[in-house]
Amino acid sequence: MDTVEQIKQVASIVEIASQYTSLKKRGRRFIGLCPFHSEKTPSFTVDDERQLYHCFGCGAGGDIFTLVMEKEDLSFPEAVRYLAHKYNIELPKQKKLSPKYQSQKEKLFKISQKALAFYKKNLLNTTEGKKALQYLKKRGVSENTINELKIGYSLNSWDSLLKYFQQIKTDIKELEKSGLVMRRNDKQGFYDRFRGRIIFPIFDVSGKTVAFGGRTLFNDKPKYMNSPDTPIYTKGQILYGLNFSKESIRNSKQMILVEGYTDFLSLYQGGITNVAASLGTSLTENQASLASRFTKSIAIAYDSDDAGKKAACRAVSICFAQGIRTQVILFPKGQDPDNYITEQGPEKFKSLVNQSPSGLKFLIQETSRGKNLDNPEEKAQVAHRIMENIRDIPDSIVLSEYIKKISEYLSLNEGELRSLIKKKTTSPGKSQTNWFFNAEKRLLQIIFNNGDIAIKLFENIQEEDYKGLKSEPIFQIFSEFFKKEQSDSHSKIYELKEKIDPSLFRALTEILVEEAHSPSFQEAKDCLCALRQVVLPRLIKKLQNELKSRENRLRKMAKGEDRNAIIKEINLIIKEINEKQKALCEISQQNNQ
Ligand SMILES: [Zn+2]
Repeated sequence: MDTVEQIKQVASIVEIASQYTSLKKRGRRFIGLCPFHSEKTPSFTVDDERQLYHCFGCGAGGDIFTLVMEKEDLSFPEAVRYLAHKYNIELPKQKKLSPKYQSQKEKLFKISQKALAFYKKNLLNTTEGKKALQYLKKRGVSENTINELKIGYSLNSWDSLLKYFQQIKTDIKELEKSGLVMRRNDKQGFYDRFRGRIIFPIFDVSGKTVAFGGRTLFNDKPKYMNSPDTPIYTKGQILYGLNFSKESIRNSKQMILVEGYTDFLSLYQGGITNVAASLGTSLTENQASLASRFTKSIAIAYDSDDAGKKAACRAVSICFAQGIRTQVILFPKGQDPDNYITEQGPEKFKSLVNQSPSGLKFLIQETSRGKNLDNPEEKAQVAHRIMENIRDIPDSIVLSEYIKKISEYLSLNEGELRSLIKKKTTSPGKSQTNWFFNAEKRLLQIIFNNGDIAIKLFENIQEEDYKGLKSEPIFQIFSEFFKKEQSDSHSKIYELKEKIDPSLFRALTEILVEEAHSPSFQEAKDCLCALRQVVLPRLIKKLQNELKSRENRLRKMAKGEDRNAIIKEINLIIKEINEKQKALCEISQQNNQ
C-alpha cells in the first residue's frame, strides 16, 4: 500500500480541520467557522465518513490533502509528508512521491516567469515593442515604472509566444493550463491569448508572477483582458500591486483601492504608493480579507459613473463584514483616479482622500438618492437596504454606533432599525446545488462515495452519457481513472481540484457532503438512464441542426460542384439521428414497464 492510501486509512479530517477551527458535531457532520474566510455563523462543514470538507459560505472544499496544502501552503508531496509525519507513517526511501503532481504549480510558476521575461524582451527589443513603448511614454509612464511593474508587450501575432515555448520544449499541456495559449476551434493546435497588447504581469503578495493582464494597442476588444483562472491564479483572490505596496499600506495604515492596473500605475507613479487594484468590477470577500492583513482602513477610489458607485457600495458592505473601516473618494463628474491625479497632482489627490465621506455616509446617500423619504414605503425600503449592508459588522459596538447614525439620518427609532437585523434568517450562502440535474448529482455522489459501484458502473458508461453536462470534465477524468486502474499515488479530490474549473469543483464538494442514503447498483443504473434521457435529446437536436445546415449548403450548390460528399455526410447524420432516437425510445419503454 502506498503512503497516500495509508494516510487515507488512518488520518482523520476532523482532527486536522480542528487545528484550524473548532468543530461541533451536527448529525453525521461537523461544522465550524470557516478557516478560509471570515464569518460569524458557521458554514464550514466536515464530513468525517467521506473525509471531505466544504464551506457553504465561500465554496472552499476538498479532502485532507487539499486542506493541508491550502492551510499550510504546501505542495501535494509536501502535504503527504506532513500527514505521514503526523500519523507516524514511514515514507518510502528515496523514491520520489508522484513527481507528476509534485510540481504542477511550480511548473506553472516557471512558465509565468519565462513568459514575463519574453514579454519584457518584446517591449524593449522589437520594432513593434518600440511603438508600445512610445505609447506608454506618451501616456506619461516613466521608464522606472515600466521596470518596477515589469510591464511587457505581446506581439501582434497568433503564435510568437507559442513558438518561443515550443523552442524551449515546454509541455504544451502545461502551457495550456497556464492560460497563455488557447486551443483552436478546429482543435488543431493552439494560439496566443494575448496579441498586440501591453502586458501587466499580475503578482501574488509574495511577488510571484501568477497571471497577466493586457491592454490592446490596436483597438481590439475587449480593451482589457486578463488570464483565466488557473491552478495558480483565481480571479478575485488577488489584489493587484499589493506586493509592491504592502509596506506603504502598513506604514500609512490605509489602502487606496482602485479598479484596474492603469489607475494603480498612475497613483503609484504619482507617489501615492499605498494603493492596490481589485481587477474587476468590485472587491470580493477574499480580497477584503487579504487587505485586512495589512490595514483596517480602505479608501475606495472607483470611477465616478453609476457602475463605479454601485461597485463602491458593494465594496463598502464587504469591508464592513471584515471589520474594515471605509471611505469613498468622490471624483468630479466624468473623472477617474487616473486622470484626476494626472491633471491635479498627488497633493490635490491626498486632500481629496481626506475630504472623502465615510463608507456609511456614502452608502446612506447612495441608497436614498432619488427616493422620497417622506413616503413611508420608500423610507422603509431605504432603511431595509442600508441595514442589509451593515448587518455583518463583527464588532457589536461599531454596529451599534452605526445604527445610531442611521437612525439620526433617517429619523427612525434605533430599536426599530435593530429589529431589522434580528429578523435575519441564517442564509447558507449561495448554493451551487442546482448546478446539476438531480440524476447527475446523485450519480456523482454514488461514484465518489462507493468505489465498488463506481467500478461496475464505469464499465457501462460511455462518453455520450455525459456529453454536454456540467459534470462532463469530472466524468471524463473518472473514466480515465478506471481505465488505467487506480494505481497513482494521489488523491482523486486533489487531482480533480487541479484539473477542473474552480466553480465546478466548489459545486462538486458541496453536493458530496450532502446527507444521502446509501445507494445500490440499481439506483446508479437508474440515474444513468435518467441522464441519458437528458443528454440524448440534446445530441439529437444538435445533429438535426447539423443536418439542416448541410441541406442548406446542398441547395445553394452550383451545378458543377461535387454533391456526393455532402450527400454522404447527410446520410451519416440521418443514420446517427435514427440510432439516438431508437436508444431514447428503448429507455422510455424500459421505464414504462
Ligand atoms: Zn468559507
